[in-house]
Amino acid sequence: MTDFQTIFDTYDWLDVQTSIYSKTAADVEQALANPRRTLEDFKALLSPTAAPYLEQMAQLSRQATLKRFGKTIRLFAPMYLSNECQNICTYCGFSFDNKVKRRTLTDAEILAEVAAIKEMGFDHILLVTGEANQTVHVPYFQNALRLIRPFFSNISIEVQPLDQADYETLIQEGLYSVLVYQETYHRNKYKAYHPKGKKSNFNYRLDTPDRLGKADIHKIGLGVLLGLEDWRTDSFFCAAHLDYLQKTYWQTNYSISFPRIRPAEGITTPDLIITDKELVQLICAYRLFNEEVELSISTRESEKFRNHIIQLGATTMSAGSKTNPGGYVIEPDTLEQFEISDERSPSQVAEVIASQGYEPVWKDWDRAYFV
Ligand code: SF4
Repeated sequence: MTDFQTIFDTYDWLDVQTSIYSKTAADVEQALANPRRTLEDFKALLSPTAAPYLEQMAQLSRQATLKRFGKTIRLFAPMYLSNECQNICTYCGFSFDNKVKRRTLTDAEILAEVAAIKEMGFDHILLVTGEANQTVHVPYFQNALRLIRPFFSNISIEVQPLDQADYETLIQEGLYSVLVYQETYHRNKYKAYHPKGKKSNFNYRLDTPDRLGKADIHKIGLGVLLGLEDWRTDSFFCAAHLDYLQKTYWQTNYSISFPRIRPAEGITTPDLIITDKELVQLICAYRLFNEEVELSISTRESEKFRNHIIQLGATTMSAGSKTNPGGYVIEPDTLEQFEISDERSPSQVAEVIASQGYEPVWKDWDRAYFV
């Protein structure tokens, strides 16, 4: 069976980048008119040449999203379980070489954070950790899932990549989905951004969605960290990854996230900026390429941007997020992984969604329907 790495190795970064930047207005118009858009069409829609077509892209993206998802925005909250990490990632506040106080939540602390998140109305939760395989490992995740499962119908994780058997174990404990971002598909630059720790193994990370597909997970979340490398080229590779996965593991659902690098203590951020307008172009390009995929916008983005994107293609949003372990009630003032931009409460975000004629969805899935 072919895996994505085999397909990925047939591409050359520079060739892909050149191809995107050579797209013409005729390529963009053909992509807009094509009812079954291809990866070549996605390249055209991503290209600088497509910028003057943004209004048309936004209208088509809105129509496609309404057709598939209706007027709904799903809401979830992230819950950081630990900021221990054995990796050096040059862009992250939790990097091993950043001298910050480390904390991994105990059972009692997990339950206290859970109560605070439930109180805000959430039924979907995303559990987040650094990568500390000695202490925050599969047994820790199993225990956390057992504690949390009675309170949430939909549990996702964003933790270190695991083996297929580990995912199978966690799915038995109620795990619904796994988010694993490649950060960048530029193999050489990946090494520079991840000089130490297990995360420096590019191939193991690249193979993770394949292991998840084989483990029969309900949903896989993909993305790149926008700002590390040329966002157009990185996003092409992410879309190619999505395309391969959907064709191979067709029972699984997929989501794309758009994390833009945010400031964090102790790090210098790269300056390959993606502007707000370009991010809208990227979101619309994904929707035109793929009408099924969930598109998720976090509180890294500003109030203004998030208000605007509700009607243009987004399907999912976090709200009221804390990006430090214990951030909701246990120890709100510890170091965050990155600074939040949209600091509104979940109810304020829900009000804005409703004011635009959309339904804020707190719950849309229950394991009981599927077992
Ligand atoms: S990005 Fe993840 S793996 Fe890298 S330092 Fe931060 S928490 Fe650790």
